[in-house]
Amino acid sequence: MTSNKIELAYTRYLSPDGSLIGPLPDWADDFNLLTRLYRHMVLTRLFDQKAVALQRTGRIGTYAPTLGQEAIGVAIGSLMHPDDVLIPYYRDTAVQLMRGVRMEEILLYWGGDERGSDYAEPAVAQDFPLCVPIATQALHACGVATAFKIRGEHRVAVTTCGDGATSKGDFLEALNVAGAWQLPVVFVINNNQWAISVPRRIQCGAPTLAQKAIGAGFHGEQVDGNDILAVYDRMQVALERARQGKGPVLLECLSYRLGDHTTADDATRYRSAEEVKQAWQEEPIKRLQSFMAGQGVWDEGREQALVAECQALVQQSVDNFDAAGTQAPESVIDHVYAKWPAVLADQREDFLERVARRAGGQAHE
Ligand SMILES: [Mg+2]
Repeated sequence: MTSNKIELAYTRYLSPDGSLIGPLPDWADDFNLLTRLYRHMVLTRLFDQKAVALQRTGRIGTYAPTLGQEAIGVAIGSLMHPDDVLIPYYRDTAVQLMRGVRMEEILLYWGGDERGSDYAEPAVAQDFPLCVPIATQALHACGVATAFKIRGEHRVAVTTCGDGATSKGDFLEALNVAGAWQLPVVFVINNNQWAISVPRRIQCGAPTLAQKAIGAGFHGEQVDGNDILAVYDRMQVALERARQGKGPVLLECLSYRLGDHTTADDATRYRSAEEVKQAWQEEPIKRLQSFMAGQGVWDEGREQALVAECQALVQQSVDNFDAAGTQAPESVIDHVYAKWPAVLADQREDFLERVARRAGGQAHE
């Protein structure tokens, strides 16, 4: 009798109601750290709500909400070193904010403005822009990690993706080369149970997504992605492992996408209200808040002050976004090539002439 079952570690410290399941690591005694993590989850959620509202009123083109997955990104972003490199996917608002990307830059990006990927903060200048094609960023991360390894630098490439991306050839090829070359890369799967309208149960026949690392010859494990203490703990270990040259890690964070896939989606067409209601019971912000309140280090007064502070920051970012104005129309093509190929030069000229004619026509209306 043979079995294809692979035993993988699964970590959770906080139950959904915020009560402790087992002893916490020593670092969890640091109230300032817990407050910082909580603050950034709240800031991410308030920014997220504003971004969706801006899309609904036609101010940005589209947006992929982070709602329900704040713990994963905040934990990753708070642990990466400034000279590590983030190679993100399109649902990474929380990580980007923690890394130092400005909220107005995130709004510019989703508004179709190239300046949104030209980060002002020097510490994130080497981070990659959001990757919209599914899973291709996993290979980019392996390229970055290969450079670190060749140069002998103690830096880590961190890349994120959704559950659906793990079915793509690009993802599996990335795992393969990461294992073959023992690259300093950490892969984080935001398993939010849905790949647009495809549920996790039919996405893949394997009982876990983390076990894909085993086939590539490196370490994989699961973590409760709605328990920020668990994500922080395991991400910390994963980063150190990669940094010390002990090879890549695949971390599967189990969470739930409480919002639509993007603002172009309507999730009520393919999943039940009952399922979403149940998932709300597990969400990460209330969980940490309940834990901190139970420890006597959080109360209603602190909560109100934090929300007011974060709302002011979000509103300031919207004002900055408005003040940025619009880019010249040719910006949509100017960054495609470092040196414009001769074969496309005529098309570029034609485009610029059309833009000029249109602007002239509008001026006469
Ligand atoms: Mg998903």
